Amino acid sequence: MLPAHLIHQAAELIRQADGLVIAAGAGMGVDSGLPDFRGTEGFWNAYPALARLALPFHEIATPAAFRRHPRLAWGFYGHRLSLYRHIQPHPGFGLLKHWAQDKPYGLNVFTSNVDGHFQRAGIDEALVQECHGSIHYLQCLLPCRDSIWQADAFTPEVDEVSCQLLNPAPTCPHCGGMARPNILMFGDWDWIEQRQQQQAIRQEDWLGKLRRPLVIELGAGTAVPTVRRFSQYIVTHYGARLLRINVREPQVSFAQDVGLPLGALEALTAINALLKE
Ligand SMILES: [Zn+2]
Repeated sequence: MLPAHLIHQAAELIRQADGLVIAAGAGMGVDSGLPDFRGTEGFWNAYPALARLALPFHEIATPAAFRRHPRLAWGFYGHRLSLYRHIQPHPGFGLLKHWAQDKPYGLNVFTSNVDGHFQRAGIDEALVQECHGSIHYLQCLLPCRDSIWQADAFTPEVDEVSCQLLNPAPTCPHCGGMARPNILMFGDWDWIEQRQQQQAIRQEDWLGKLRRPLVIELGAGTAVPTVRRFSQYIVTHYGARLLRINVREPQVSFAQDVGLPLGALEALTAINALLKE
């Protein structure tokens, strides 16, 4: 049963807003068919080769893993790069874009996902902040300098059984050493964050223009709280209302905000049916 009164309240929050702040966590990608890395069991189900090596997510997703097991680390990230390139973002992305078209200030996105799917769904690159970076950009593993470049020229070939990269890993154009994804990893002191910082500055400028901002938070849990902290910051500093869409943790602090205990696509589809009326 869909919580009808909550969906009505959610649609009303969207109608009243002059701009939409989309705050997305891992739950947004799950409905496109992307694997859920939540919990070691879930992670190892998606990557059985890493289960056999007893390597949890927080150990393979490190710069140290690229130094110790380069073919394995690139096997993991190369597989994800191919996956994110080939899977279509679900229709919920398009609904958000559509709702924003009627708004004086449109939308902006803050996402912890590195899949680039908001851009793939047709949302302008200049409207997105990727707080953990993007898998579609590379940087030097050392790093020898503060530069990043697009990963387009690299097509990974991965043996899925062993999670090993079969073709040569991408290299740094400056020093010839190994490259790595421009993603903030665990225990990562080397992430080159200039691109994300520029995105953040652009977003602050946009946020300052809004009078009735609404944060639509999607699939952002408390385990990696970056996105929820961002939502809270926008509520506190910009007087925004909050629409929190989260299957397991939908609670909100204020009576005028709405928490929907639903998956992202299901919630967005149900709200859209009301907005069309
Ligand atoms: Zn280099």
